[in-house]
Amino acid sequence: EFPAEWLDAWSVEDGSQAATTLFADVFGEQPDGVWSAPGRGNLIGEHTDYNGGFVLPFALPHRTYVALRRRDDGRVRLSSAQEPTPWEGTLADVVPGGVAGWPAYVVGVAWALREAGYDVGGFDAAVTSCVPYGAGLSSSAALEASVAVALDAVHGLGLAGPVDAVSDAGRKVLAAACIRAENEMAGAPTGGMDQAASLRAQAGHALLLDCVSLDVRHIPFDLAADDLALLVIDTRAEHQLVDGQYAARRDTCETAARVLGVGTLREVTDLDAALATLAAPGALDGTGQDPAVVARRVRHVVTEIERVREVVDLLDSGRTTAVGPVLTAAHESLRDDYEVSCHELDVAVDSAVQAGALGGRMIGGGFGGSAIALVHASEVEQVAGDVAAAFASEGLRAPGFLVAVAAAPAG
Ligand code: ADP
Ligand code: MG
Repeated sequence: EFPAEWLDAWSVEDGSQAATTLFADVFGEQPDGVWSAPGRGNLIGEHTDYNGGFVLPFALPHRTYVALRRRDDGRVRLSSAQEPTPWEGTLADVVPGGVAGWPAYVVGVAWALREAGYDVGGFDAAVTSCVPYGAGLSSSAALEASVAVALDAVHGLGLAGPVDAVSDAGRKVLAAACIRAENEMAGAPTGGMDQAASLRAQAGHALLLDCVSLDVRHIPFDLAADDLALLVIDTRAEHQLVDGQYAARRDTCETAARVLGVGTLREVTDLDAALATLAAPGALDGTGQDPAVVARRVRHVVTEIERVREVVDLLDSGRTTAVGPVLTAAHESLRDDYEVSCHELDVAVDSAVQAGALGGRMIGGGFGGSAIALVHASEVEQVAGDVAAAFASEGLRAPGFLVAVAAAPAG
C-alpha cells in the first residue's frame, strides 16, 4: 500500500499546553487562559455564498489555540508558532490598511469589536495551530474566531456564552467582527461561511447557513453511525492568478442577476427560463460577457443551491450514502460549468472515486486547496493510499490527508 501522510488533529489538552508554553516563553508570565477555534470543511454549497444561497459547512477537529492575557494599557503584543515575525502595537492606532500580514487577522478582530461599540482593550497573545495552513480549511477564520472568544472572555463581553449555554446571537456578533477583520483589515474578500462555521457550528452537526439572513440550522451529521467517513485531501497545489478569477466569477454572477432582474441568483426558480432569457439576442450586449460562459456560471450556481437542499434532505432522512453522488455532481459542475477546479483537485476526486469512494468534490474557492471524499469507514486508509499513489504517478507534490468529523465550535 502506498504511504499516505496524515495531518492529525491535536487533543485540546495538547493544543492548550502548547499555547500556554509558547506564551510563557515569549512573555515570561502565565496567560489568563487558552481559547481555541476550529477550521472547517464544507460538505456542499460552493460559490453560492455571494449569490445569496446556502452553504453546509462543519467544524473540523483541527483547531487554532490562543493563549491570551488582558492588558489595561491598550498595547497589543502577538506571537505565533507558525509565523517568524511577532507584532507589537497600540490598539487605538490600528486602522484598515495599517497592519500587514498575519497580525491583521488578530488585531482586526479587536478593531472590529471596538468599531461595533464593544469595550475591548489591549492584550498579549500567543498562537499555535494544527489547522493546515492555506489549504482551504480556513486557518484564517480559526485564528480570528479563537481571538474573538478570547477577547470576549477577558473583556467580559458576554457574547460567546458559557460552554453549556452557547449564545448563537452573541456568536453571530463575534462572527461579524471576524468577517470585518478578514475583509477590511486583512484585505481578503470572503463571504462569511468560514467564520459562521468556526463560531456557530455544533459537534455532530453540519451548519446550514442562509447567506442572506445569516440564519442557521443544525443538521445531524454523524457519518460514523453509518460506517462512513469523510476524507479530506489537502492537494498542496499552489496556483497563481486566483484573485482575478474569483472577482471575475462574482462579476459574471452579478451581471447575470441584473439581466434577469433579480437581486441574487438565489431568486432564480426556473433555470431553463433563466437560460432562455440570457440566450435571447442582445440580452448581454454591452456587458462584455460571453453568453455561453454566463449560462454555464448560472447553471452551476442554481444547481449547486439545489444540491445543498438535496443533501440536507438526505441527511435529515438518514440516507447518508446517497450524499456521495451529489458531491461528485457538484465537482463536475465546479469543474465544467464554473471552471474553478485544477489538475490536482481533479486527480484527488477521480482517484478517490476510482478507489471506491461514494463521491467527492473540490471544496473552497478552487484552483488548489482541498477536496473531500465520502468513503466507507473501513476503506479510509486504502482510498488515501490510492489517492497518494495517483498523485505520485502524476508527478505531483504528495497530498496530506485527514478524517473529518463534525467537531465543536470556538470556545
Ligand atoms: P486558509 O484560511 O484557507 O487556511 P487563508 O489564506 O485564508 O487560508 O489564511 C491563511 C493566513 O491566515 C496565513 O497566511 C496567516 O496570515 C493567517 N494565519 C492562519 N493561521 C495562523 C496562525 N496559526 N498563526 C499566524 N497566522 C495565521
Ligand atoms: Mg481563509
